[in-house]
Amino acid sequence: MKGCIFNIQRFSIHDGPGIRTNVFLKGCPLNCIWCHNPEGLSPAPQIKYSPEKCIGCGECTKVCEPKGHKVENGMHTLEFSRCIACMKCTENCPSGAVERDGEEKSVEDIIATVLRDSSFYEKSGGGMTLSGGEPLYQPEFALELLKAAKAKGIHTALESCGMTSAENIKKVAPYVDLFLYDYKATGEEEHKRLTGASQRQILENLCLLEELNAIVILRCPIIPDVNDNDTHYRGIAELANKHKNINEINIMPYHSLGNSKRRKLGLDPLYEAETMKVSRAKEIKEAIGKYTGKEVKVI
Ligand code: SF4
Ligand code: SF4
Repeated sequence: MKGCIFNIQRFSIHDGPGIRTNVFLKGCPLNCIWCHNPEGLSPAPQIKYSPEKCIGCGECTKVCEPKGHKVENGMHTLEFSRCIACMKCTENCPSGAVERDGEEKSVEDIIATVLRDSSFYEKSGGGMTLSGGEPLYQPEFALELLKAAKAKGIHTALESCGMTSAENIKKVAPYVDLFLYDYKATGEEEHKRLTGASQRQILENLCLLEELNAIVILRCPIIPDVNDNDTHYRGIAELANKHKNINEINIMPYHSLGNSKRRKLGLDPLYEAETMKVSRAKEIKEAIGKYTGKEVKVI
């Protein structure tokens, strides 16, 4: 079986225990205004363009049938809305200014890459983490990856926004050692405003994970002037307190890298702020810690 991924990151230490290999699957049902990984939004391969690398040679214009690329007076422009993702320009561009983002890979290929670091997993208690995007946007592919990893005795973690069917959760849960489960907003209207979707299914799936005795770490992106407020801190703590299978809360401070990635993909930023300072993230950790006995970490 094949699926679409946009990265395999080896030697990760923030997405589950020990040293891990993160596999990033494409496609996401949410559209969070601060999205840290916008290359995971689209389920299909796409192009990304880095203008600072462009030398204005015009090679892309020779192969782009819908005429998305133009070079006039040595100045190159790209109209993303014309792109049909044929990828010909990525093959013709000599400077790497246009690149492919996302590719189809088989379960076997990915697991072969993951297995290269088996000795590190054994020493550190690490393993494979599926991330994205939302890994369960490609549910059958995610399931096969998880099954293949477990068949090789590898610890598995699944980072999920929770926006998927109960059926998908039930299917993958037996093959997931740890769920890294996002909690982004407190209150239905706030969740819709920040992510474009209802929170109902996400909260129901969290209850389902408790019924299934799945181990969960709550992952909370904290975004300046968006959800860094006491109502949300209490909301995070109350949710963690409610579910006995949540053993830890992770604070994920906002960083601004997502916006430079958005621009390369032809997407305008939906939100802009400076990367959160470490000192501010520590204050938030303490503020949440006042409302819960569960461990709170900044990652
Ligand atoms: S990938 Fe898009 S921009 Fe590039 S040649 Fe094909 S249609 Fe044109
Ligand atoms: S082929 Fe690459 S370097 Fe040349 S004009 Fe097109 S984007 Fe720029």
